[in-house]
Amino acid sequence: MRDEYGRTIDYMRLSLTDRCNLRCRYCMPAEGCTLTTHTDLLRYEELLRVAQAAVSLGITRFKLTGGEPLVRRDAAAFVQALKSLPGVQQVTLTTNGLLLPPLLEPLLQAGLDAVNISLDTRDNAQYQAITRSRYTADEVLDAVRLCAGRLPTKINAVLLPETATQLIPLARLAQELPVDVRFIEQMPLGSAAAAIPPNEPCTASILDRLRTVWPQLAPVHQARGNGPAQYFSAPELQGCIGLIQAVSHSFCSHCNRVRLTCTGLLKPCLCYAEGVPLLPLLRSGAADNRLREQMRQAIAHKPAAHCFARREAITEYHNMNQIGG
Ligand code: SAM
Ligand code: SF4
Repeated sequence: MRDEYGRTIDYMRLSLTDRCNLRCRYCMPAEGCTLTTHTDLLRYEELLRVAQAAVSLGITRFKLTGGEPLVRRDAAAFVQALKSLPGVQQVTLTTNGLLLPPLLEPLLQAGLDAVNISLDTRDNAQYQAITRSRYTADEVLDAVRLCAGRLPTKINAVLLPETATQLIPLARLAQELPVDVRFIEQMPLGSAAAAIPPNEPCTASILDRLRTVWPQLAPVHQARGNGPAQYFSAPELQGCIGLIQAVSHSFCSHCNRVRLTCTGLLKPCLCYAEGVPLLPLLRSGAADNRLREQMRQAIAHKPAAHCFARREAITEYHNMNQIGG
């Protein structure tokens, strides 16, 4: 469907959980945060009902996120159920990759269309510091290697001041493997926001640095993926390099997405707290047309743009794992 600014909204990010086996410092506070109780978590059948209503409103592509979606039991069975809904064209997943290896076959059989794996550094000690965990970057890379060539695979790296020297090593993964590597500006959300200096980081210099290694790096003009990344390719690369300039460049005029948190809040925009709570409707026996109408209203009134450049205007105070990044 189109929102009131004429944007076509056809993509929904579905959060399966706010729980995670990591504590990435830009996403969750070190001490963790209050987690959703089992009762308040949308059940799979409720998620499917929302997805079905979303399809009837024109949403055809879904991304499973969290928290870490693979900590939720039976995630592969859910992928299969979602893929089986008439009208669902694509189901993809974003994951930290650590629980992926034993689940890859079931996910492929369930029909998963693509995977995004988050990795901000190839340096094991730095990975442990950023994720506040004992896992290593090598374990994530094992998952990346398993996926590469078997299903479309993207690596997502949040740009952090301390990982500046990791730009080229991470980008090299697009040369070593058939994967895209995307660099994402950190968004000032949740408890980590206060620590982000204003105007930081700027992706402008990144292209110059990448061109010292790949001088022929050039923009890719055809659409690639569902999101706002700008892609670049070079003859030496098997995959593309992407930039997601969520903060320094507004791409809101082309935004195509809404989010559903794991507690059933339908959120039209990442940086505002506003949303329509669907859980009470789902659990009060509301008819499908009422659910659909509430969702239609929320989508229709999607805000014109985010306000990351004016932090005082951000009304979303939850952490990214709770929002479903
Ligand atoms: N656990 C999964 C993962 O890490 O991919 C899925 C959830 S995570 C919230 C989804 C994506 O959001 C990850 O790529 C993560 O790096 C990114 N992310 C989390 N906090 C962010 C922030 N403050 N700014 C930009 N990206 C962020
Ligand atoms: Fe977990 Fe993903 Fe957040 Fe890291 S970014 S803490 S892996 S939800």
